[in-house]
Amino acid sequence: MAKPKPVVLIVIDGLTPSMFEAADTPAIRFLAQHGEYRRSASVFPSLTPVCLASIATGSYPDVHEIPHLVWWYRKERRIVEYGSSFGAARAAGITRTLRDTVIDLNAKHLSRGAETIYEALESAGLTTGAINITCYRGSHRHLPTIPGVPAVNGPKRFFFYSLYESDRTGAPMAVRNRALGSIDAYAASVGRWLVTRDGFDALVYYLPDYDYASHAAGPDTAHEALARSDAAISELMDAAGGPDAFLERYAVVICSDHGQSRVEQVARLDAGDDLVTASNRAAMVYTETPRAVAERLDAQPAAGIVLFEEDGQMIVRRDGDEDIALLDAVPDGHTRAAAALRNPNAGEVLVSAAPGWEFLDLAGRHHLGGGSHGSLELADSEVPMLTVGLDPPPASITGVKGLIAEHFGVSVRRAA
Ligand SMILES: [Zn+2]
Repeated sequence: MAKPKPVVLIVIDGLTPSMFEAADTPAIRFLAQHGEYRRSASVFPSLTPVCLASIATGSYPDVHEIPHLVWWYRKERRIVEYGSSFGAARAAGITRTLRDTVIDLNAKHLSRGAETIYEALESAGLTTGAINITCYRGSHRHLPTIPGVPAVNGPKRFFFYSLYESDRTGAPMAVRNRALGSIDAYAASVGRWLVTRDGFDALVYYLPDYDYASHAAGPDTAHEALARSDAAISELMDAAGGPDAFLERYAVVICSDHGQSRVEQVARLDAGDDLVTASNRAAMVYTETPRAVAERLDAQPAAGIVLFEEDGQMIVRRDGDEDIALLDAVPDGHTRAAAALRNPNAGEVLVSAAPGWEFLDLAGRHHLGGGSHGSLELADSEVPMLTVGLDPPPASITGVKGLIAEHFGVSVRRAA
């Protein structure tokens, strides 16, 4: 039997299915012509750290335990903020935010009970690589490029915003001009180097710049940003000798982590004296009186579906109605809601924003007139999912890890 082709997993942050389906950019169009496509579900909250942990570990948040962009860390009795906005990062402390996002998300917050795709494949003797993805835990120790920053454990080939580089590639600095796509350009430069050397069995190629542009411009309008993400994919193809040669050598998964919806109104969620952690279109309340909080939220138009547990049952409430069938109307609703609520780091009450609404973050920042995501609603929760040279695309982003592992005949550890 022929050795399975190496796999490139491309994650374009925040890319909606409609934008993907209408894309007339060359690399995406070429891959779409050669692969199998479907719309798949994200997880809840549909926010990047949660979603990337689900893609990397093949699990919902009850297993990987990353609950939100901002949350209360019960063990350390403090707020963890992964950078909802620059203002929120400053409010939580810039150094603390960077340490939580870059180091502790992987070293401390990500459950040991979850197994990353890098851990799964490398324990089977394969070589994995990761470029810029915030969920990177692996078994190889990497020293930073800047003195004073802690070492981290990542996959064998590991590149993270110029801060960790397992190999010298000559790539330019990652963070020169975010709005002009310098991070994806850095990824492209590293990706080109890895493809030229055939340096991996599985590579996770994470392109965050599209989401950044889409937050500012609104969903389905960031065409220039998509063209730059596409160019970053074309660089991989060029390094392999062109699109056909690329597919001769590699199997491909291309997806996003969550969708986006347009922000028409913003509000600060009011839960009385209880702690609210809110960002984008999801919020959590840490409280000893979940029902009272949920009832208080009835009068707040920003609150859409509200979840809490009572007598061991998940209660699903919206505008005063309690009906578990409210979850029938959103993608993968029951599984996503239950998994979010069971996360030991989550608040006792979870709030999915109503359509068109966004919650103010720690610093009062928002994306009014632009795009946002995080809720259970369709626009935030659907992602494009394309596979080329692999089994058909999975229905959930939690299926990507298993799909790739199966391609290599590697059995993945199933979390309890
Ligand atoms: Zn985003």
